[in-house]
Amino acid sequence: MFALRAPGRLATAIGICAIASLSTAIPDADARTPCIRESRHLQVSSLRNKVTLECPPHGTLTATDGITRVHVPRNGLSVTAYTTSADGSGQLTVARSADGRHVVISDTAPSDPMPLHGDIDNPCTDGTFATRAAWPKGSTIRLRQFDSARPTALDWAIPEGLRRATHAVTDCDKGGAYSPPPDINTTVIGHTAKAPGFEADGTCGDPDGVNTIGFMSLPSAPSRFLAVTCIWRENHRIVEGDIALRSDRVAWWMSQTPTGTPAVPCPPAHYDAVSVATHESLHFLGLAHVQGGHRGLSVTPDIPACSTDPSTLGLGDYRGLIHLYGPTSST
Ligand SMILES: [Zn+2]
Repeated sequence: MFALRAPGRLATAIGICAIASLSTAIPDADARTPCIRESRHLQVSSLRNKVTLECPPHGTLTATDGITRVHVPRNGLSVTAYTTSADGSGQLTVARSADGRHVVISDTAPSDPMPLHGDIDNPCTDGTFATRAAWPKGSTIRLRQFDSARPTALDWAIPEGLRRATHAVTDCDKGGAYSPPPDINTTVIGHTAKAPGFEADGTCGDPDGVNTIGFMSLPSAPSRFLAVTCIWRENHRIVEGDIALRSDRVAWWMSQTPTGTPAVPCPPAHYDAVSVATHESLHFLGLAHVQGGHRGLSVTPDIPACSTDPSTLGLGDYRGLIHLYGPTSST
């Protein structure tokens, strides 16, 4: 039912023992496994909920989708990766205990409330949300923007996505935003020459103490890979987050521009950078994917080419942020 597989030459006798042992594990139960200390790349071949390993693996873990990857974090730290692809999305959480003696692997969100109303196709009445963790309430998160080799108008999209998320921008209210907004904010304090903390295939690497956003090249990632967000947390408190939109092999389009001028129509097979950036920003703030439709919400797992729906928040997106941060008291 649940198994970890060590591919290729790493499928040693130790790895094979791990398969046999883990295949009998049940959800939420500790799986007594031999140590896999020689492992560097492990793939979660089947994971419906979560599994606990008494003997933590080292190196990189890959989710069932084959493209959502994380470095196993240091003691006491959890990491969640969200990937956006042309054919869907992935999420993977790996949490190492404070004493380092076990690791919990999960590909679902811990909370997934039912919608307030039944229409999952109407973002203005679909109140569904799922949360993973939160920054401290009322805080202003400081970020740096990666200076890519070729700055373009696209660079505006990610800060704009963060603004849309924290200001609760929506088409569901005549005022253009839900009120009051959630009690959380972000500010880009400057630029950096250091790229967001992802490897060339989009793997969430190790935290470096800086929240970094930007477009970056991911030359080893599959062609369908569009974007990735990673958050690191201690218990339920997020301590760092990075966002990358892919600068290579993705045809981006802008539904909005910094000057607000009318955009050109979306060419086929292009993706709206503002929509993807808003979606990733909600992950950055602690929201997880809502599974099973909900295509009007910004945190829907499916972002089709040319879709602009995720560029504004639906009721569930807003309710999720209010659940995590409460409303601002100044409005
Ligand atoms: Zn996502």
